[in-house]
Amino acid sequence: MQTYARLPIGFTHGEGPWLWGSDGKRYLDAVSGIAVCGLGHAHPRITQAICEQSSKLLHVSNLYQINEQEKLGHRLCKLSGMDKVFLCNSGAEANEASIKLARMAGHKKQLASPKIIVMETSFHGRTLATLSATGNAKVHAGFEPLVEGFIRVPFNDLAAIEAAAMAHDDIVAILVEPVQGEGGVHIPDDDYLPGIRQLCDQHDWLMMLDEVQSGTGRCGYWFAFQQYELTPDVMNLAKGLGNGIPVGACLAHGKAAELFGPGNHGSTFGGNPFASTVASTVLDIIETDQLLENCNKMGQYLVDQFTEAFAGLSGVTEVRGKGLLIGIELNQPCTELVSQALNEQLLINVTANNVIRLLPPLILTTTEADQMVNTVVKLVRQFLST
Ligand code: PLP
Repeated sequence: MQTYARLPIGFTHGEGPWLWGSDGKRYLDAVSGIAVCGLGHAHPRITQAICEQSSKLLHVSNLYQINEQEKLGHRLCKLSGMDKVFLCNSGAEANEASIKLARMAGHKKQLASPKIIVMETSFHGRTLATLSATGNAKVHAGFEPLVEGFIRVPFNDLAAIEAAAMAHDDIVAILVEPVQGEGGVHIPDDDYLPGIRQLCDQHDWLMMLDEVQSGTGRCGYWFAFQQYELTPDVMNLAKGLGNGIPVGACLAHGKAAELFGPGNHGSTFGGNPFASTVASTVLDIIETDQLLENCNKMGQYLVDQFTEAFAGLSGVTEVRGKGLLIGIELNQPCTELVSQALNEQLLINVTANNVIRLLPPLILTTTEADQMVNTVVKLVRQFLST
C-alpha cells in the first residue's frame, strides 16, 4: 500500500555507517533506519549472534519459559533501574502496553474514564491508541473517532500540566518523550522531566517515558532519563534495541510493575529467543565498545561544527542535539534537502518540515562526521542562497 512517499533509491548492502545503493554508489548513512541501526550495518557480532541463535531456536510460544527473554529482561532492568519488562516488536506496541498499564492503574482507583496527559508535537506510533496519543493532526486525519482519554498540553510546559491537574480529577499518567524526535528534535529545559516526576509523585500519576527514539544509547545515555536523578514508572523502548531486528520493550517500576497479570496482555512474537538474543548482543556491544562515550563525543563534535559553520547565517534558526539525535532548524520548509543530500551520497532526514534531523550510528568516527558536516553545510548554504 502507498504508505510511504519513497525516494528513488534502494540499497543492496551496508557496512558500518555506509550503504551501497543499487546504482553501485556508496552512501553515508546519517539516518540509521531512523534511529534503528545504532551499531551501523552488518555489524559482525550481530551477524554472528543472528547466525548462532537462528541455528538453535527462533521462536517458542510465551506459554513456555524463554531463557533468552529472561536474560534480556534482567539486563534491561539492571541498566535502567526498572523492575519488570514486557517484550514486544515495535515502538507503537511498547507504547500501547503502557497505555493499557495506565488504564489498569486508573480502574484500580475506581476511575471509570482514566486520562493520560500527552504532549503537543509528540509522536508515539500509528496504532489507534498511539496515534490518538500523538500530537500531530496529520497523523490523526482520516482515522477519527480517536481513542479517548488523552489530555493534550504543550511540551516543556510544567504550568500547563498543573493547569490540567486542576481541571481534571481522573488523570492517571503522563506519557512524554524525553527528547521529541519526530516533532522536530525538541530538547526540554533541565527542570522539565524532574518537574514531571514531582507532579506524578504529588498526584499519584504514572510517569511514562517514550524512549523509543531517545533510548538505547541514542542520546549518549543508556536511556535519556538517566541524565536526571529520577526513575520513571514506565519506560518504552524499540528502534535501536534490535539494530534492525524488530524488538520493543515496556519496562515498569514499583507499583506499575505489578499491574499486569496473566491474560491482561500478550504478543505471539514478543520476546522470542531470536530477537531477545540479538537485543542482548546490542547491549553487550554498546557496553564493550564504549559507544555511549563515543555518542556523546561525536554528538558534541557535530553540534560544535554545525554551530560554528552556521554562525551568522540567519536562515538557520538553531542547531541542537542530545548525543547523536541532532536537529538543525531552518526558518523555512526544507524537505527538498533530503533528495539534494541523496545526490551527494548522504542520507539525511527532515522532520516537522523545517528541521534537518541527523541520527548517525553510535560508531561514527571523526572522518565520517566531517564528511557529513561538509555536505550538510554546503547544501544548507546553497539552499538558503537561492
Ligand atoms: N515513539 C517514538 C518516540 C518514535 O519515534 C516512534 C517512531 O518513530 C514510535 C514511538 C513508533 O515506533 P514504531 O514505528 O516502531 O511503532
